[in-house]
Amino acid sequence: MNTSLEMEKEQKYIMQNYSRFPVVIERGNGSNLYDVDGKEYIDMTGGIGVSSLGYNNEGIKNALHAQIDKLLHTSNIFYNSTTIELAKQVTQLTKMSKVFFANSGAEANECAIKIARKYGFDNYNGKKNKIITLKQSFHGRTITTLAATGQDKYHKYFHPFTEGFKYVEMNNIDEMKEALDDTVCAVMLEAIQGEGGILPMNVDFAKQVEKLCIQTDTILIFDEVQSGIGRTGKFFAYEALGVKPDIVTIAKGLGGGVPIGAVLCNSKMEKVLNKGDHGSTFGGNPMAAAAAIEVLKVISEDVFLKEVEKKGAYITAKLKNMRTDKIKEVRGAGLMIGVELNCEVKEILNLCIQKGVLFLSAGDYVVRMLPPLIITYEEIDIALKTLEETLNSI
Ligand SMILES: *Cc1c(COP(=O)(O)O)cnc(C)c1O
Repeated sequence: MNTSLEMEKEQKYIMQNYSRFPVVIERGNGSNLYDVDGKEYIDMTGGIGVSSLGYNNEGIKNALHAQIDKLLHTSNIFYNSTTIELAKQVTQLTKMSKVFFANSGAEANECAIKIARKYGFDNYNGKKNKIITLKQSFHGRTITTLAATGQDKYHKYFHPFTEGFKYVEMNNIDEMKEALDDTVCAVMLEAIQGEGGILPMNVDFAKQVEKLCIQTDTILIFDEVQSGIGRTGKFFAYEALGVKPDIVTIAKGLGGGVPIGAVLCNSKMEKVLNKGDHGSTFGGNPMAAAAAIEVLKVISEDVFLKEVEKKGAYITAKLKNMRTDKIKEVRGAGLMIGVELNCEVKEILNLCIQKGVLFLSAGDYVVRMLPPLIITYEEIDIALKTLEETLNSI
């Protein structure tokens, strides 16, 4: 009842740019969500990879309460200890040199692109200014990050886009070599393409791109907005590829549900941006920083990451053994999993919702799972049983 009333109200007052599932979420606990009519769900979406420690997490709540009692916001014309502490922890943990704080993934990528262009300006009189990204990539919704996104469906309206992006097929090193000329300042990659359909990068391709970047003084950027912060069982998904980027962008899982994004860079990149070159009113907000410190405390534990890897392997094995003729392929790492079907996913997701399990899609044919990293085996079992039954019911 409450659901339909809220949906009507939403239609009246909110711009209709989202196609939402008919669920009005009211509260959450652990890996469970509850709607306004009191129905319980197992959440395999994790707020699209954001709610890394699940819902109603005591540690995050305590950190937020303590920060709220002290200070909600101060501007970046002053210093703040919580922000500085997060900077220390996130750089030390990732062995990067310095950080810039933003509020979202798109903003983090905007900043990475600005650093790359500035480096080309400083060292090559701006001759190096192009950026290579991959086909099927996703880097955000601002005009520039849409331009960086290598998918035509995002390039239909909103012209003119920011110039200077080239798209290369993932795992095609010949195409990369061809594109990487002396006008290119950076290559930006996802170790596992999330929105594109959970498409993992080959180790060999990654290593060859890294080598080419070193040879040509091209900046290697990894967009870890979806795949980072423990999502794949490593702190960053690129660690499994054995490469070392110059710049890494993070966001989604970092705040455990509080909006925050960040750009990490190595010592080569740390002096590119100077006073006044970039900024953000909310970036480094103390409240968001307090939540992120708590998230890092949990996710930096080796045992925690091992458990993410184990749960991911458990889900993947179960999916591969599922008795259904609807699954074409299972892909991903850790708790970033895609199940490609030979039928459309939309109806399946709706049927699963009715049975109390929330899944994501990636495109029209892939069921995507980004559950809270703290999800239990019991919850996984129920979610997968529901998926299997649903696949076999249509
Ligand atoms: C979600 C996502 C973004 C954009 O993040 P926003 O916080 O929505 O701006 C960028 N890159 C990747 C890989 C993402 O998954």
